[in-house]
Amino acid sequence: MTVNKVRKTVSLLHSTLKDFPRHHLMMASAVGCCLLVLALYPVSDAEANRKIAESIEIPVATQPLPIAPEEIAPALSWTEQRVSSGDSLSTLFTRAKLTAIDVYQVSSSQDGKLLRNLYPGELFRFGLDNVGQLQELHHVQSKLVSRVFTREGKSYSSEQRVLEPDTLLNYREGVIKDSLYMSGLEADLPDKLIMELANIFAWDIDFVFDIRKEDSFSLLFEENFLEGEKLSVGDIVAATFTNRGKTYQAVRYTNDQGVTNYYTPEGLSMRKAFLRTPLDIFRISSGFNLKRKHPIHKKIKAHRGVDYAAPRGTPVYSAGDGKVIAAGYSKANGNYVFVQHGQTYITKYLHLNKKKVRKGQSVRQRQLIGTVGSTGYATGPHLHYEFLVNGVHRNPRTVKLPQANPIPKAELMAFQTTTQPMLRQLAQHGGTSTFAGSEAAADINSGTSSAN
Ligand SMILES: [Zn+2]
Repeated sequence: MTVNKVRKTVSLLHSTLKDFPRHHLMMASAVGCCLLVLALYPVSDAEANRKIAESIEIPVATQPLPIAPEEIAPALSWTEQRVSSGDSLSTLFTRAKLTAIDVYQVSSSQDGKLLRNLYPGELFRFGLDNVGQLQELHHVQSKLVSRVFTREGKSYSSEQRVLEPDTLLNYREGVIKDSLYMSGLEADLPDKLIMELANIFAWDIDFVFDIRKEDSFSLLFEENFLEGEKLSVGDIVAATFTNRGKTYQAVRYTNDQGVTNYYTPEGLSMRKAFLRTPLDIFRISSGFNLKRKHPIHKKIKAHRGVDYAAPRGTPVYSAGDGKVIAAGYSKANGNYVFVQHGQTYITKYLHLNKKKVRKGQSVRQRQLIGTVGSTGYATGPHLHYEFLVNGVHRNPRTVKLPQANPIPKAELMAFQTTTQPMLRQLAQHGGTSTFAGSEAAADINSGTSSAN
């Protein structure tokens, strides 16, 4: 019931961690150490990466200086000017007590034109020698990127310096109490990762209808650090989602073409030919609320689809690649769009507020084709969605979807070598927590009703 917060940061070098003794982890949790951080020192020494430092906390954030001036020119004295709205090179140089000649010498140098567009928040660092002459100018564009101008006679040469952040893995897990979104927040997951998690499993799990209390999730994801300060949250590396007692696993893999996707541990693509839920689930205001009632318009006979109650205007997507075979209006259907996918499949979208495609148009999976409305015979705004296989209506929520692009046999070895350490790591984390037995909590009925 409670959301387990387990925070562990581990090195990206999965291979080193896979042999990390599990009893250490257990001991650590036994002594009540709720923050177990396995971290690496910065990558200054490649060999140092081979070692795991145990129980090292991420250093407190410090203001990183992309270029340490004393390393470059110890004799210079330094001042800084932050770019504000309306600043130019002249105003910055004036504030730094430099002259129009200095401005001219820098701006007329070969890369001086790169200083024409300045953005608020950028930093200039001025390195002066002992007679007050500008020797070095650092244009710090971000924590990772800066350009260094160095005096050469009466002009300046320049070079760009780019710092590489350290990427570490972090772990989170949670158990659904009321909604995926709320449980994700309680597990301290940024919005971006909650959405990414749902998108990874969106082909297998209907996040509108199928989420149940005691469903659970766990994930390993990347975080980028620079000198101990967190710069950004990266992508999910591996994740599990247990829905109604069935556990789905996904792991990220970049194939030999350089294309990144999520796969099952066996190398089947998580991405299927059809979306399970053909609308933007994050725009449903109740946010997967399990107590939400879905208005099923039972009065309409031969109801052969699924109804997704959603606010008017919620984006509706094509469930798969295909061609629009009909887009029009009828008294019963309201605004509707039908999409043909190959020879076998047709999907239908009814009661749209607006149609966003025309008959004959090709559409891609997840392409916007309309918005949720209540046109035609509808009691309130909802998407009525139908899925036909060889002309026969099938339940969109349970129909077996065709598999898309598994890892080719020739690449399977490389796939497993890369992904298995990550999956092991994910499993090890899960094993150290006080995870409630969600397997036993299958199919708790929460008041949502089936819509066939
Ligand atoms: Zn309907």
